[in-house]
Amino acid sequence: MPALEHAREEFRRRFGGEPRAFRAPGRVNLIGGHVDYNEGWVLPIAIDRSCYVLAQRRNDRKLRIHSAHFDQTLDFGPDDPRLSTVHWSSYVRGVAWSLARDGPALPGADLLIESDVPFGAGLSSSAALEVAVGLALLALADRTMDPVALALACQRAENEYVGMRCGIMDQLAACFGRQGCALLIDCRTLAVEPLPIDETRVRIVVADTRMKHALAASEYNQRRSECEEAAARIRQTHPAVRTLRDIAWPELESLSRSWPESIRRRARHITTEIARVHAAVRALRQSDFETLGRLMSESHDSLDADYQVTSPELNIMVAIARELPGFLGARMTGGGFGGSTVSLARAEHAETFASELARRYEAATGRRPDVYICRASDGAAELPQTLFHEQPAAAPRSERSSQ
Ligand code: ADP
Ligand code: MG
Repeated sequence: MPALEHAREEFRRRFGGEPRAFRAPGRVNLIGGHVDYNEGWVLPIAIDRSCYVLAQRRNDRKLRIHSAHFDQTLDFGPDDPRLSTVHWSSYVRGVAWSLARDGPALPGADLLIESDVPFGAGLSSSAALEVAVGLALLALADRTMDPVALALACQRAENEYVGMRCGIMDQLAACFGRQGCALLIDCRTLAVEPLPIDETRVRIVVADTRMKHALAASEYNQRRSECEEAAARIRQTHPAVRTLRDIAWPELESLSRSWPESIRRRARHITTEIARVHAAVRALRQSDFETLGRLMSESHDSLDADYQVTSPELNIMVAIARELPGFLGARMTGGGFGGSTVSLARAEHAETFASELARRYEAATGRRPDVYICRASDGAAELPQTLFHEQPAAAPRSERSSQ
């Protein structure tokens, strides 16, 4: 957790007053790569790294926002024009814009943003920011919204205001995270089912390659278009098919023989990946971690060969993981072209697995990765004033043990 006491001091200094505090987590997807925008199923966990927003209501309609990361404070009126390029403030203003479309005008707010989710590492710092800001703005307006509607409002902010065509997984994971659980998300119906992971037997190890390739955003949008093209081709003979969710590979295999090779491969990844998610869910329900791990590794190979969204660094990280004691499975996570891998490791090996992964990756690439063992955590919420105003370590024992 970033130093919240420090953030509160900073808030007082910049804005004056006593803020409320809101938190939303980043996420790591265990399996279901690039499936969300094809309306399939995904299996993320909310992680124990979060975006924190300290907030107080203003008497005018201005939004005054400060990012600790960028050390920048900006003021916006409700009618100010959008910036012409993507800027960190676009995510914040986009959420205000999106929420105002679903209800009464929002009051102005002072917001201070602090986060320990790394940017562009495939852990969705953007959705963590959006959801934390969304919760804060709703609370200051005395408005409530069900979490699916909040996730959709945040996705709309990113799609239509920021201009990034992200799917719905990240915002749903930030809203619905559950301690000790992965989240099975149906990206068409938006149903979310928490599935316990026995963290005494396996641990989830995230490894940020610290490399992000410039092409990531444009390639991501291209993959989306390729999937839409594949679905449109299928619809010529199967009009009920809306997205690649609606067809399985065995049927598509013969149907797609005459297609351009690249479109066929994209469709093969998505349809086989959806089958892997279902198999992974069956494995997780039975605590069959060998099978879950194997499916994660197969997912990586498909993202590499068919979907072509990995990078040399991601492949090196996965190759190293495969050699280590305690390895069960590993894959790239997030959009790809850099960012992070997620590995499943046996709990008793997790510490050495993580440190060896970091050491060998650095030896191979000359670049120090950020490797950490994460916990499946709860979703977005306002922080209780007691936690926020006292150092957590100072909380009375009875209070902590009653949680
Ligand atoms: P990812 O979501 O995978 O981390 P994105 O490119 O989708 O990567 O989102 C990262 C962007 O979100 C950052 O470049 C920045 O504009 C914005 N952002 C995320 N967290 C913060 C923060 N704490 N303060 C300011 N901007 C942030
Ligand atoms: Mg993002």
